[in-house]
Amino acid sequence: MIRNVSLSVLFITGLVLSCLPLRAETTQDLPNQNKASVRTNISQEIRDDQHVSPKVKELFAQAVHLLKINRAYQARDLLEQAAALAPKSAGIHCNLGLAYQNSGNMPKALAEFKAALELAPHMPEATLNLAGCYQSIGANTDAIKWYTTYLSEDVAGLQRKQITDIIGALKTANQKPSSDPKAEDYLENITAEGTYRWPKEKLPIRVFIQDGDLDDGKSVNGFKQSFKDALITSFDDWSQAAGRRITYQIVPDKEHADIFCTWTSDPQEVTENGTLSERGSAKIIVKGNLIERATLKILTRPILAEGILSEDEMKKACLHEVGHVLGLQGHSTNNHDVMFFTVDTATVWPVLSRRDKSTIARLYQNYPVVASTSPKQSRATK
Ligand SMILES: [Zn+2]
Repeated sequence: MIRNVSLSVLFITGLVLSCLPLRAETTQDLPNQNKASVRTNISQEIRDDQHVSPKVKELFAQAVHLLKINRAYQARDLLEQAAALAPKSAGIHCNLGLAYQNSGNMPKALAEFKAALELAPHMPEATLNLAGCYQSIGANTDAIKWYTTYLSEDVAGLQRKQITDIIGALKTANQKPSSDPKAEDYLENITAEGTYRWPKEKLPIRVFIQDGDLDDGKSVNGFKQSFKDALITSFDDWSQAAGRRITYQIVPDKEHADIFCTWTSDPQEVTENGTLSERGSAKIIVKGNLIERATLKILTRPILAEGILSEDEMKKACLHEVGHVLGLQGHSTNNHDVMFFTVDTATVWPVLSRRDKSTIARLYQNYPVVASTSPKQSRATK
C-alpha cells in the first residue's frame, strides 16, 4: 500500500491526568496519593505540501485552533470534512481522534488513532493518545501496552519519567480489586483503605477560602474570583448530594478553619512524589476514622503551558478535590464520575454524576439532616 501522509504536523495530544486510589501512610494517619500524569506540548505546523489542497490546509488549521481553545465539537466537524478530502492523512486522523476524545466519544477516538497508526505506524503522538484514551476508559491493560510502545519510541527526559510513573501506577491499579463501574455507587472504592468521615460535632465544617492574595502582599498568578465561586459551588453540590447530612460554612479567618483552601500557580505545589497528577491537591488529617482537618490547593493555571483553563476545567478540579476532603479517599472506576481516577478533558463533566451523589449520600447516610435556608450560611442543628 502506498502511504500518502500529506500533512506534516506536531500533534496536540489529549491531556491525561491520572491519579490512583489513595494509599494510607503507615507512619501517620495521613492518607497519601500515588498518582501520575502525562502531558505533551501543544504545537502544530503545517509544512508546505503540494499534495494537500488549500481547502484541506485551511480546514486543518482552523480545527487545530479550535482544539486548542477546547472547542472539540467544532474541531471534529472540520476534521471530518478534511478527512473526507484527504482520507490517507494520518495527521488528520490523529487530530480527529483527539477531537473525538475531547468531546467524549471514546470508541470513535480509538478508531481514529488506530487509523492514523495504520497510515503512519511510527507516529508517537497517535500512540500516546491511544494509550491515554484507553486509560481514560479504564482499559488499563491496553493503556499499559500502548504507553510501553510509546516508551520504546523516542521519548526523552521528564516525559519518559512521567510515562514510566503512569505505567507503574496502572500496573498497581490492575492488581487491586475494583468495583463494578456500573454499580449504584463506588463506596467500596473510596473506603478500601479505611472509611473516613467528618465527625458530627464538627458540622458545619468551617471552610476558609483564600482570595488569591498571598501573605507577602502578592497575589496568585491567574487567580480569578470565579474560581472561588466554583469552589464554593462545589461544596454546595456535595452537601446537597449528601442530602444535607454534611454541611459547611465559610469562615473569614483561617485560624479557625477545618478546611483550609488555597490557590497556586506552581504545578510543583500540587505534585505528589514529584509527579504532576491532578489540578489540585487534597489532604486530610485524621484521628482514627475521623477527619480532624484538611487542606485543599487548586492550580490556577492550565497544566499545558499553552492550554486554556476553562471554567469547566476549574469546576471539575474543585468538585474532585472537594470530594477528597469530604472523605472520598479514593477514586471511581467509571469515567463519567467526578471522582474517576483519571481526570481528563473528555469524559468527566463538571457536575456530580448519579454515582458521585449516591456515594457521598451513603458515606453520610447515618448522619442527621441539617435544616438550612441557604447552604452558604448553614448552621448545625444539634
Ligand atoms: Zn483524585
